[in-house]
Amino acid sequence: MGHVLGRLDHHAEIDMVEEKAKPLPRLTPDNRIFWESARQHKLMLPYCLHCERPYWPPGPVCPYCFGEELTWKEASGRGTVSSWVVVYKAWLPAFAADIPYNAVQVHLEEGVCLTGNVVGIPNEALRVGLPVQVVFDDVTPEAALTRFRPR
Ligand SMILES: [Zn+2]
Repeated sequence: MGHVLGRLDHHAEIDMVEEKAKPLPRLTPDNRIFWESARQHKLMLPYCLHCERPYWPPGPVCPYCFGEELTWKEASGRGTVSSWVVVYKAWLPAFAADIPYNAVQVHLEEGVCLTGNVVGIPNEALRVGLPVQVVFDDVTPEAALTRFRPR
């Protein structure tokens, strides 16, 4: 019996090691420009060439007018927190050391909402309407994540 438990523990340990790495952006033809720009610390948004509105998430068709042609423009990176939560449970083992951490939705000045984290303030200071600015977190040599700091 002890042997069986030992084996189970061993497997659990292996699973935890394998799940320690945080997920990185998965590049697709639709989002590639966004993440490659983030690596260069630029925030880029897709704009429909027909109705000229920015939209999110990036995709092959404008969600407002179904236009199929788009261009990318650099965004201000300025916005306000429109929703937030503080996570106290380690839903993924890779984030266990980070709890409690926040996840926010930011309404950018350009009119689209991005999801991310606010850094540089305690979670208790989060509020709807908090003015923020995008920052780029070089999490690996190949990937930068977009986060936000108060401005
Ligand atoms: Zn459109």
